[in-house]
Amino acid sequence: MVLAGCRGAPRDDADPPPRRVTQFSVINALMLGDYDGVFSIGDVLEHGDFGVGTLDHLDGELIVLDGRAYQVNGEGRVLDAGSDRKTPFATVVRFVGDGSLRCPAARSLAELDAFFEQRVPHANSFVAVRVEGRFETLTLRSVARQEPPYRSLSEVAKEQAVWHHEKIAGTLVGIRTPAWAHGLNVTGTHWHFLSNDRRVGGHVLDCRIEQAASTYQVCTDWLVRLDDRPEFDRLDLGRDMRSQVSDVESARGVGE
Ligand SMILES: [Zn+2]
Repeated sequence: MVLAGCRGAPRDDADPPPRRVTQFSVINALMLGDYDGVFSIGDVLEHGDFGVGTLDHLDGELIVLDGRAYQVNGEGRVLDAGSDRKTPFATVVRFVGDGSLRCPAARSLAELDAFFEQRVPHANSFVAVRVEGRFETLTLRSVARQEPPYRSLSEVAKEQAVWHHEKIAGTLVGIRTPAWAHGLNVTGTHWHFLSNDRRVGGHVLDCRIEQAASTYQVCTDWLVRLDDRPEFDRLDLGRDMRSQVSDVESARGVGE
């Protein structure tokens, strides 16, 4: 069917709507060890300039900030993630910011989460949150590149590297996923960090804020890109892995 010239035809994906969150694959696939990168970082950047994820072979943490993609590898080094690199799982938005909030001097990540849940009470929407400032302390983690046959993320996370930093300036990149989307993405807020000097980053397990400001964006449009390989179809993605996801993604994980 030819749609050329049709009014209301979809716009080019090169300019995604700002309130659309796009995720590549689903969290349960990553939990089950589906670490092969099938989506290019270039594709991810076409769908957003702000977000989180990982890289091919679970090779560290992915941070997308201001249209650039960074890898924090298993040793904690921050590297540019070129557009030809691949990812098995990422979530991005084109960040424009709906509103801004002055952050409290939160003494923990849980306290920061509670603040945003109260002040941006869109419990059933995706929300992107950007926090810029100075941190008293930060607890970050990354994971080391894996080789097949892959183990589950719960197993791999037992070997995660954890770093504690003090007095550091940078940006928290947060994607909040509603509870109804469990199995699809990390429910609650998934936070990654990148320092202003681009030398320190990772998945955030905890933090204590000295002084910070935030902007946020409520997303009303949600796009899920799925892998079309047979390996993906063989995964039992309907399993309830909420407690395992929570253990892997939070400070309650075995790495602490
Ligand atoms: Zn993460």
